[in-house]
Amino acid sequence: MTKKLYYDDPYIKSFSTKCKMKVQDEEGWFVVLEETAFYPTGGGQPYDVGLLNNVGVYRVEERKGEVRHYIKDPLPINEGDRIEGSINWTRRFDHMQQHAGQHLLSAAFEELFQYETVGFHLGETHLTIDLNIDQLTIDQAFKAEQLSNQIILENRQIDTRWVNEQDLSDYPLRKMPTVSEDIRLVVIDNFDYNGCGGTHPSSTGQIRAIKILGWERQRTKIRIQFICGERVLSQFQSKHKLLVSLGSLLHSSEETMVEAVERLQQKEKNLEKSLESEKEKVMEAEVQGLMKNKMNVNGHSLICTVYKGRSMQDLQKITRMIVENNEYVIAFVVCEYEKQLRFVLGRGKNVEVNVKEIGNHLIKHINGKGGGNEAFIQGGGEKVVLGEELLEFGLVLFKQLKN
Ligand SMILES: [Zn+2]
Repeated sequence: MTKKLYYDDPYIKSFSTKCKMKVQDEEGWFVVLEETAFYPTGGGQPYDVGLLNNVGVYRVEERKGEVRHYIKDPLPINEGDRIEGSINWTRRFDHMQQHAGQHLLSAAFEELFQYETVGFHLGETHLTIDLNIDQLTIDQAFKAEQLSNQIILENRQIDTRWVNEQDLSDYPLRKMPTVSEDIRLVVIDNFDYNGCGGTHPSSTGQIRAIKILGWERQRTKIRIQFICGERVLSQFQSKHKLLVSLGSLLHSSEETMVEAVERLQQKEKNLEKSLESEKEKVMEAEVQGLMKNKMNVNGHSLICTVYKGRSMQDLQKITRMIVENNEYVIAFVVCEYEKQLRFVLGRGKNVEVNVKEIGNHLIKHINGKGGGNEAFIQGGGEKVVLGEELLEFGLVLFKQLKN
C-alpha cells in the first residue's frame, strides 16, 4: 500500500521518498513509491500531474491500494533508490477549489430544498452535479448559489477526520459512506459532513467563488454546470473580452447590445423583403421578354426557353407567371445543370392539351423523377442530352399530338 501524504496534508507540493518498483504495463512505464503526494483519479476528482526526478508524470491511477505514477521516460532508478517528487500545483489547487466547491453547492441544494446530488464530474472547463429532480427554477438555482457563496465568505474551516462505522451516528451525514472502517470524513464547519477521499483546501474562503452557468434535463435528473475558484475569474475575463469585441462591432455599450442586435435583425428582414420584391420585378420583365417569342407548334401556342443553373423555385414561378396571364398559352421551361436537367410544363386555363402526358415522356427520356397534373408538371433527371436537345425533343412530342 502506498502511503498517501495528501490525506494528512493536501498542501504538500514536493516530497522525497523511496522507489518501491518500476514496471511497464500496456499503457507505459510506471513507478510505485513508498509514499506519495500525487492524487490518483478517484471520487470524481482527476489525477495530479508533475515530476519525478525531473521526468514528467502524465497520469496517476490507483490499483488495489498501490498508486501508479505513469512517466514519460523510463527513469534510470531501481527499487530502493530515493526519488524526488513535485506536483503541478496550479492544476492541483484548481481541483481542490472545484472539488470543495462541489461539496458546498451540493450541500446548499440539500439544505435549502432537500435535493440530493447523485452524480458529479470535474471537467477541464467546468464541473457538473446531477440532482435527482426533474425541474429546477431560476430562483432555486440563485438561492443555492447565494448560500454557497455566503459560506465561502464566512471562511469556515474544512477538516478531515478518520472515523469508524460506530462513530458515524455522531455526525449529521447526508449520505452513508460506502466503506465501514477507516472512513475519512470531510467536515465543513457547521454545514456539511461527507465521506470523501479527495483533496480540499483548509477553509471555504480559498474556494473564492461559485457560479452556476446553466442546467439541463438528463432523463430523470437535472444536470447543473458550474465553476469555482480561479475559473470564475478567468471565465469572467474571457466573457468580458467577448462583450468588449461585440460592443465595438455593434457600436454599442453592454446595456444597449441586445437592442443593437434586434435592430440589425429587423434591418436584415426588411432588406430581404425588398430584395424579394425587386426579384419579382426582374422576373416580371423577364417573362415579358419571353412572351415576345411565342411560337406555334401544331396549332398550339408555346413559350419555350432554356436556362442554366436556376433554382426549381424560379422555374416554377416563371412558368406560373406565363400561364396565369395567358390563358391560351403553354409554357415549357428547361434548365441545364452540370450533371442534371430539369423542366417545368404548364398550360393556360383555356388550353386543352394534357401536359402531364408530355411531361412523363420527358421524365422517362432523362431517367428522371417528377410529378404534377394535366395542367402543370415538373421533372428532373440525368443530363443525357443538352438542355436545347431536351427542348427539341419536347417540341417533337407536341408536333405528334393529335388535335
Ligand atoms: Zn471531497
